[in-house]
Amino acid sequence: MNINDQTSMIYPELSLNIIAREQHNISRKQISDNALKVLYRLHGAGFQAFLVGGGVRDLLLGGQPKDFDIATNATPEQIKGLFRNCRLIGRRFRLAHIMFGRDIIEVATFRGHHQETTKNVSQKSDAGLLLRDNVYGTIDQDAERRDFSINAMYYSIDDYSIHDYAGGIEDLEDRLVRLIGDPETRYREDPVRMLRAVRFAVKLDFDIEEDTAEPIEELAPLLRDIPAARLYEESLKMLQSGYGLETYHLMREYNLFQQLFPRVAEFFTEDYESPAEQMLDLALDSTDQRHDEGKRINPAFMFAAILWYPVKALADHFMQSRKMTEYDAIMEAGNVVLDEQVRSTAIPRRHTATIREIWQLQLRLPRRSGKRAFRLMELNKFRAGFDFLEMRGEIEQGETKELAEWWATFQNAGRNMRQAMVADLDDGGAKSPRRRRRPKKSKPKS
Ligand code: ATP
Ligand code: MG
Repeated sequence: MNINDQTSMIYPELSLNIIAREQHNISRKQISDNALKVLYRLHGAGFQAFLVGGGVRDLLLGGQPKDFDIATNATPEQIKGLFRNCRLIGRRFRLAHIMFGRDIIEVATFRGHHQETTKNVSQKSDAGLLLRDNVYGTIDQDAERRDFSINAMYYSIDDYSIHDYAGGIEDLEDRLVRLIGDPETRYREDPVRMLRAVRFAVKLDFDIEEDTAEPIEELAPLLRDIPAARLYEESLKMLQSGYGLETYHLMREYNLFQQLFPRVAEFFTEDYESPAEQMLDLALDSTDQRHDEGKRINPAFMFAAILWYPVKALADHFMQSRKMTEYDAIMEAGNVVLDEQVRSTAIPRRHTATIREIWQLQLRLPRRSGKRAFRLMELNKFRAGFDFLEMRGEIEQGETKELAEWWATFQNAGRNMRQAMVADLDDGGAKSPRRRRRPKKSKPKS
C-alpha cells in the first residue's frame, strides 16, 4: 500500500459543496468587526481567508458564536508580517493571535496531512496519537483534518459563499454530530474528540451520529494519555459553559466522566443517588444557573463539590485506621485526592488552595460560639463555604441542614439578633469556649 492509499483510507475524499451568498443566511453584519478586519487584510494581501469552525456553524444555526476563528493559506510568519498586533503561539500547532484589546482573533494556516511529511514536522505515537502537527496544506486537506462535518464549513471573504466539505449543511439540518473519516482512527489520533462530540451534542441539542457514537465507550480510556493541562481546560468547557449538568450525564453514559474523575466514579450507583452523585447534580445545576444569570463562576467551588464525598470517605477511613482527628483526616484525605485529581485534570494551584479552604470551612462553620461566628463571616471564602454547606444540607439533612439554616438566619440578622443567636449557642453548649481550651500537654515522662 502506498502512502496515498493510506491517506485516502483515513481521509476519505470529501466532496466540496459551495453554497452561494444568496442561498444562505450569513451576513457580514453578524461577524465581528475585528474578524472582518482580519479577513479583509489577508484577502487584500492576496491570501485566501475564511471564517471557519464554530463561527460558521453557530451563525448558520441562528446563534451568536463564542468566537470567530479564521483559516488562511498565509503562513504564521506571513500573517505576522501583516499585523502589528499579532502574536504567534502554540507548540502542537503554530497559530497567530491577532489582538484587539481583550478580543483575540485566532488565525490558523491550513493544515496538511501528517502522512505526507517528514519526521521533524509531524509525529505519531505507537498508539496513533498525534504528537506534533505542524504541517501546512491546502484548504481541502485542512477540511479533512477537522473533527466534525458541522465544523468543516468555510465562509469565504472573497465571494461570501460557504464551502461545505463534509456534508455539514445536511448534518446541521438533521441535527447530527458526525466525525469526518473513520471514527476509531480519528479518536485514536486525538481522544479529546470524544469529549468534543459530547460537548457539541449537548450544547447544540444534536444527536451523536451512530458510527460516531459507537466506539466512544470502549475508547474512552485513551483520555488517560492526554496531558492533564489540556483535560483541565476541556473539563471547564464541558462543565462550566452553561450545560454542565447535562454534559456530565452524557459524559457518564459514554464512560468519559469516569476517565477524568476516576475516584468520583467509584461512588457511582445505578440510581444516581449516592451523596457524591447528588452533590454533582446540585453543584452543576447551580453552576449552569449562575452561567445563565451572567454571574462569575469559580472553578474551585465546582471541583471542591465534585470531590467532597470521596474526600469524606477517605477521611473516615483515616480516622479509623490511623486514629486521626476529623480535621487532620479531612485535610490529609484532601491532599491525597487532590494530588490524584491533578494528574488527570491539572487544576491550577490558586484553585487547589481555594478548594482546601472551602473544605476546611466545613469543619469550622459548626464552631460558632463567642466571637467565632463574627470572625468566620469576615473570611474571604466565607460565602463559598456557606453555599457549599447549604448544598451539603440538602443532601445530608439533619444537623448539617440545621447548621446551614442557622448561618442563613445569622447572615440576614441585625447586630442584636446575631448576638442573641450566639448567646443561645453558648447557653446550649454548656461551657464557654474559654474554659474549653485544652490545657497544654506536658512532656511525656520517659
Ligand atoms: P466553540 O468555540 O463554540 O466551542 P468551535 O467549533 O469553534 O466551538 P474550537 O475549539 O474553537 O471549537 O475549534 C475551532 C475549530 O477547530 C473547530 O470547529 C474544528 O474545525 C477545529 N478543531 C478544534 N479541535 C479539533 C480537534 N481536536 N480535532 C480536529 N479539529 C479540531
Ligand atoms: Mg471556536
